[in-house]
Amino acid sequence: MNPGQCLVMPANLSLRHTRTGWRFIRRMSRLALPALAVFVFLLPPEAPAYSAAEIRTFQRAIVDYRWRLNPRFKKIKRKDTRYIIVHTSEGGLKSTLRTVTRGKHRRGRSYTYGGHANYVVARDGRTFRILDKKYRADHAGRSMWNRQTDLSDISIGIEMVGYHYAPITDKQYQSVGKLIKILQAVYDLDDRDVLTHSQIAYGKPNRWIHRLHRGRKRCAKNFERHKANLGPTWDHDPDVRAGRLAADPKLAKVFYSPRPVAVAASTGTNLISGTDTAWSIAGEDYNSPTTIYRLPGGKEIPGDSIEKLVGWNRIPPKTEVLLNQQEPEAVIVKSGPIKVITDNATAWSHAGSAYNRDTTIYIFPNGRVVRGARISDWDDLPKMTRLIVGYKGPFKIDRDSTAYRIAGQQHKNRTTVYFIPPRIVMAGDQIADFKSLPAGTMVFLPN
Ligand SMILES: [Zn+2]
Repeated sequence: MNPGQCLVMPANLSLRHTRTGWRFIRRMSRLALPALAVFVFLLPPEAPAYSAAEIRTFQRAIVDYRWRLNPRFKKIKRKDTRYIIVHTSEGGLKSTLRTVTRGKHRRGRSYTYGGHANYVVARDGRTFRILDKKYRADHAGRSMWNRQTDLSDISIGIEMVGYHYAPITDKQYQSVGKLIKILQAVYDLDDRDVLTHSQIAYGKPNRWIHRLHRGRKRCAKNFERHKANLGPTWDHDPDVRAGRLAADPKLAKVFYSPRPVAVAASTGTNLISGTDTAWSIAGEDYNSPTTIYRLPGGKEIPGDSIEKLVGWNRIPPKTEVLLNQQEPEAVIVKSGPIKVITDNATAWSHAGSAYNRDTTIYIFPNGRVVRGARISDWDDLPKMTRLIVGYKGPFKIDRDSTAYRIAGQQHKNRTTVYFIPPRIVMAGDQIADFKSLPAGTMVFLPN
């Protein structure tokens, strides 16, 4: 048997496997030929990480979410693609999808226009295409790798739904592994070109570190490369070695330690302790209003108030640090006055700061009508609750007071709202026959 035949390997076998194969062949070539033949026969064939069929199935299942992109996001083609950057979104699926497509929001106002990732991988492995891979996603922020800055210009961004201090799911690893294989083939990238956001982000001097430094982000520091069928990352940080940046000792240990650190150590925690500080957990977001500190007693304090209310050195141990606690996006609904509470549309997103006013009226699925000012439990508003913003009423229709008596010429307007208990809510311009409205129908008029 010709040992050369062993070299004929499937084209999609990874470089790592090929190297292992070579080493094996070199070692084996010192042995007698018959022994080699037996050995090769016994050796289980090295399968490629994913079959072509698996890749195709995965690719077909990607959910196209590009239509949700904020129209104000400006699409720009990347001139060069040299890296794939993996992130953890520090939030759940809904808020992740909302942020990467529509933008970041705070107190009802948007301050970015979305386009913060090319792909999102959900906890169950479902993968969403947010922005075509050829376009520049605004995902890496202040970043540097091997002297090159602004990595968003030359990289694809993948958001893993989850947190940097909690394990990524096996299903996510399966999906992201396939996704990365596909992108590596398209852009001719090797495993070392796949980095995490925490590896490439860098920060300006701050109260914790007085130089340009790593550690601005902890994003995806829990990404276990081998689970995505990737070979090792760099054995050092080129910008730290060249003196351009100060190292972050914790991240350095995770990524460049000669001996791999235990999973538990790399996953870490989001609880304040003697060794885990606000900085080591939240990175540059330590004092952001969207970082919430949940004290052991349950009290929650935003990052921008810690200095004033607690003091950075006095945060009690076991305080939980929650990143990315954004308020819901302000959705401008153009489809008429009747709005609906759904998973993605909250009272706040429909009504903004008017959500709890007397003139914001909620019609619950069970037919109850309640004014905003009388609701105290905002977290448990049932889905399919309807609301109207800036209204007075209800005025009841009965034999003596018709829609016309109540609303005059306005009775058939789009802005006049009718509630026919127990379930029907409609606008005046949708009603064909006002005489057929049952007694007990309620009319709401713009305030
Ligand atoms: Zn990130």
